[in-house]
Amino acid sequence: MTRWPRRQATAFVWLVVALVAGLIWVSAEATIRHQEDQARANALEGAMLRARAAAADLESTLEATAGLHILAQARATLLERGDLTGALAIQFQLQALALRPVFGISGMAVTDRQGVVTWTINGQKGNGQKGNNQGGGSGHAPVSLADLPYFGLLRDTPATLAVGQPRSTLRFADRPGLPVARELYDRQGQFAGISVVGLDTQALARQIARPDLRQQGLAVLVRPADGQVLVRSPATDSAGAAEPAAVAAVLALARTEPEGRAPVRNPGTGRWLLTGWSGVEPAGLLVTIALDAGTALADTRREAAIIRAVATALSLLDIMGGGGLLLLRARRRTAEALAQARRAQQATEAARAELERLVASLPAMVYHGDLAADGTLTSRYITANAAQVIGWPHDRLPPRDTFLAHVDPGLGQEVAAFFAGLLKGGPDTLEYRMARPDGSWVWLRHHARVVARHGEAGGEVIGSLADITEERALRAQAAISSQLASLGEMAGGIAHELNRPLAVMVMAAHNALAALEDPEPDLGTVRGRLERIGEQGVRANRIIHHLQALSRPTNEPQEQVCLRSAVEGAMTLAGGALRQAHVAVENLLPPDLPPVLGQVVAIEQVLVNLFTNARDAMASRPPDARRLRLIAHAEGGQVVMEVADSGPGVPEAILSRIFEPFFTTKAAGQGTGLGLSICHAAMREMGGGITARNTPEGTVFRLTFQRVPAA
Ligand code: ADP
Repeated sequence: MTRWPRRQATAFVWLVVALVAGLIWVSAEATIRHQEDQARANALEGAMLRARAAAADLESTLEATAGLHILAQARATLLERGDLTGALAIQFQLQALALRPVFGISGMAVTDRQGVVTWTINGQKGNGQKGNNQGGGSGHAPVSLADLPYFGLLRDTPATLAVGQPRSTLRFADRPGLPVARELYDRQGQFAGISVVGLDTQALARQIARPDLRQQGLAVLVRPADGQVLVRSPATDSAGAAEPAAVAAVLALARTEPEGRAPVRNPGTGRWLLTGWSGVEPAGLLVTIALDAGTALADTRREAAIIRAVATALSLLDIMGGGGLLLLRARRRTAEALAQARRAQQATEAARAELERLVASLPAMVYHGDLAADGTLTSRYITANAAQVIGWPHDRLPPRDTFLAHVDPGLGQEVAAFFAGLLKGGPDTLEYRMARPDGSWVWLRHHARVVARHGEAGGEVIGSLADITEERALRAQAAISSQLASLGEMAGGIAHELNRPLAVMVMAAHNALAALEDPEPDLGTVRGRLERIGEQGVRANRIIHHLQALSRPTNEPQEQVCLRSAVEGAMTLAGGALRQAHVAVENLLPPDLPPVLGQVVAIEQVLVNLFTNARDAMASRPPDARRLRLIAHAEGGQVVMEVADSGPGVPEAILSRIFEPFFTTKAAGQGTGLGLSICHAAMREMGGGITARNTPEGTVFRLTFQRVPAA
């Protein structure tokens, strides 16, 4: 047996030792690299899942704002129809909804088509502040949103949802709100202004950066169109330094991939950011979550140092046991990867649960589906709160044919036409009654719009159904109380007017009978008395005729009206009250005044309201100083009429508010505050207007009417 010389054997052993040590180092480095790759991939995946969960959260918040917007649209439609009590009921409901802390809403505003804010709610602290009218009010300068980019965008691009810049000119409750705006349209489907819901930016920042993110990274909400950062979570220094270069890099990547992840190098600091992003569909926004690579991989780097130390130890010792150690580490690595995946899954599930909770608290159920050309709707998604809102669980909603069978039979046709019409016209809203599974009725407001068209084949539709059973009851109640109030006001005047002819008739009948008792009755006297009874009967009949006209609905077509006869009609109703209050009436309407467009009953109602207000205002004047003067003249295509009293005038501080519904300075039980708001609505309905001003003599109400066009 040949023996190796000792020197050679040692060299061989050293060679083997060196080889094995080299192997240990190579495999240790490979393990470290693999582990780092794995940790980076996990962190990237985590960033993306977080971005996705935050985007889903935001979408549900936007759905909540859609609910408010639908109500704002309903309010605008009711105002346009002149249904002030209905609009007011919705206003109350909007206030209640916007102030619910669950939505994180800092306020809401509505503008007219010029961009001037006409109505706002402040959402601070949920203390139920009233909405205030800022449009042209005395004391407040009118706020205009017309110069803001989102206003222009909505005016020129209908069916859009636009998000503005926090810290815009419109601030709610002295805190910057992220304005989420949608367009309002009128009955012709034309642009009629916008409604803006302000989302509390601090609440949004908390929402996109869950508590667990705050120590490790940065969450930002960006608008890719112009690269603006809208909301940004408080961040650690290392990640905070990522702005804005890293945001720009993410935006470049997001252009090709709406959702994704990538390591992004911040050229400013040279540090890597592990970034995930996800689009917030309806608003065209992007949520980006950036984790600082140094922080995210710190654990792995510590482990790498340990591996190197172990490798050093192993290469100093002899080698064989090292394989076992490596095996152990590999096992630990797998276990850790699994635990990380589980954590990511738990985070996603928590996000989904939160989303469902938010959806369940929405005041309306929302659906998304495909609408075929024949009006058949196939739903893709229905929010799980359907059972609470409309009584039908979302997975047991009757299909369209049977759906119609559950709708109030009187309205079935209209509902079918509503679906069919969505593809032809713009967005639409319909109120109808539907039977719940238990047979009880629920009143629904159905709002839907087509968001994408599939050519001739139909389109994709998004809609919402809200339970308005209570709201309708409230509206009916308000309408009845205002009717009762005006009826009460009028009843006094009518009683007075009817009393006079009746008294004369009774007296004349009495005299006629007395004359007939005479053995040689003077038939001439009897005839005179009977004629008088006849005349007074005609007069009473005329008063009753006016009363009937007033009780008819006013949505009659426009007709030619002679203002002089409308004044006469109004005097039939209010003349007695004016005489009783010693008001001298000067009717200076010229005989050749051209006719106007409108409804005689509505004009009489406006005049009666103005006359009785004037009488009330002049009660504080001595009887011989109470004058009511009526003048009128034609002016271009209009006829202008002025009703001037000699009262104390309207205090300047309230001049801008007297046309608001329920605004009154009269004692409880005497004023309803509805008179002038009804006048305002009636004048607008006829294409005219009403304004008030003070003069040294008293108050002047100026009415404008449209002149009847020359044939
Ligand atoms: P109401 O008469 O029930 O109070 P209106 O809407 O008709 O309701 O009027 C609202 C308010 O406008 C009144 O309470 C009063 O303060 C003011 N007002 C109306 N007409 C006159 C007038 N001719 N002169 C002074 N103030 C008036």
